[in-house]
Amino acid sequence: MRGPMTARKGGEGDVFARIGAFLSEQGLSPEPAHYSFAYSIITEPDGAIAQAVRRLTDGGVRLRRGDIESLGGTVVAGAPTGEPVQPRRPDISHADALEDNAARLVAETQAQVAGFTTIMQAMQDETRGFGRDLAESAAAIGTPQVIGHAGGLEEIARITGTMLARVRDAEARLASATHEAEALRAKLADANDTARRDALTGLPNRRAFEEAFTARGERDGPYCLAVADIDRFKRINDIHGHPVGDRVLCAVGRLLVEECAGELVVRHGGEEFAILLRGKTLAQAAEHLDGVRAMMAAKRFRIRESDQPLGSVTLSIGVTAVQVGDDSAAAFDRADRLLYTAKAEGRDRVCAA
Ligand code: GH3
Ligand code: MG
Ligand code: MG
Repeated sequence: MRGPMTARKGGEGDVFARIGAFLSEQGLSPEPAHYSFAYSIITEPDGAIAQAVRRLTDGGVRLRRGDIESLGGTVVAGAPTGEPVQPRRPDISHADALEDNAARLVAETQAQVAGFTTIMQAMQDETRGFGRDLAESAAAIGTPQVIGHAGGLEEIARITGTMLARVRDAEARLASATHEAEALRAKLADANDTARRDALTGLPNRRAFEEAFTARGERDGPYCLAVADIDRFKRINDIHGHPVGDRVLCAVGRLLVEECAGELVVRHGGEEFAILLRGKTLAQAAEHLDGVRAMMAAKRFRIRESDQPLGSVTLSIGVTAVQVGDDSAAAFDRADRLLYTAKAEGRDRVCAA
C-alpha cells in the first residue's frame, strides 16, 4: 500500500535541500538574499533566470558576483563568491564611509527582508501540506486495513516515523528562520542608529533632537534649549579648505559633548549645534554655556599636518527656557533669534531670555 506521506515526494519538501545544494555549489553563504535568488531559480526551472543560470554555469562553472547581480540577485558583501569585493577607496572620508555604511545596511536589510519573506512563505506552504498529510495519516491509521492488517503495527510505526522526521525538519527550519529574524533585528537597530546620527561628527542629528524634544518628560524639567553657531566659520573653509573645516566641526562637537556631559548635544545642521539642557534654570544654563564658550575661545587650534596655527574658534549661543507645551519649532525659533542677537552684538557671547 502507498502511504499518504509519499504522495508529496518531489514537492516543496525538498526545495530546501535543493536550495542548499545550489548555494553550496555556487559558494554562496546561506544569507536570505542568496536563498531568495536560489529559490526563484529552483521553483521556476523554466524561467528566464534559471535558463540564464544554466547557460552561465554550463560545464560546472561558478556564477560570478556580476552574473548574479545582472540577473537581479543580490550578493551580500563578504560572501564567498569567488570574486574579491572591491577595496574601499583610500581617500574616502569618514562621512562618506558612514553614508556608504548606511546605504549598505539599507540594501542588506531589504535583501534580508525579501529572503526572510520567501523562507516564511515556503515554510507556510510546507506546514499547510504537512497538516494535510497529518490528517490523511490519522485517517489511514484508523482504517480497518491498517488496524486489522498483519503488518498494521509496522505501518503505523512507519507513518509515525515519517511524521516525526518532518516535525524535526520543520523545527530545524523554524530555528534557522528565527536566527535570521534576530540578525535582521540587529541590523535594523544598527540602521536606526545610523539614521539618527550625523555622518561627519557622529553626534545625534536633527531627527534625534526632534524625537528627544517630543519625548521629554515635563517632570524631569525645567528644560533649556541652546543653539550654538561657530563664528566666521566660512573663513576657516575659505582659508584652510573644506577638510580642515570638517575637522574643526568635529573638534567643536567633541568639546560641546565633553563640556555638556549628560545633556543632549546634536549637530542641527551646517556649523550649528543644538543643546537640550535638563534640570537647569535659564540662569544656570546660561552660566554653564558661558563657561563652555570661554573654554572654546581659549583653545588654540593648529593644522595637524603643517602645525600652522588656525587661531581661536569662537561660538555664539542663544539659549531659552523651554515652556510647558512648547513645540520644538517654537523653542528653536526663540533660541535662534537670541543667537542672531549674540551675532549682532559682536559674536563670542551667550544671549539668554
Ligand atoms: P557667522 O559668524 O555669521 O555664523 O558666519 P559664518 O561664516 O560662520 O556663517 P555662514 O552661514 O556665512 O557660513 C557657514 C559656512 O559653513 C558655509 C558652509 O560652507 C559651511 N559649512 C556648512 N556645513 C559644513 C560642513 O559640513 N563642512 C564644512 N567644512 N563646512 C560647512
Ligand atoms: Mg556660523
Ligand atoms: Mg550658521
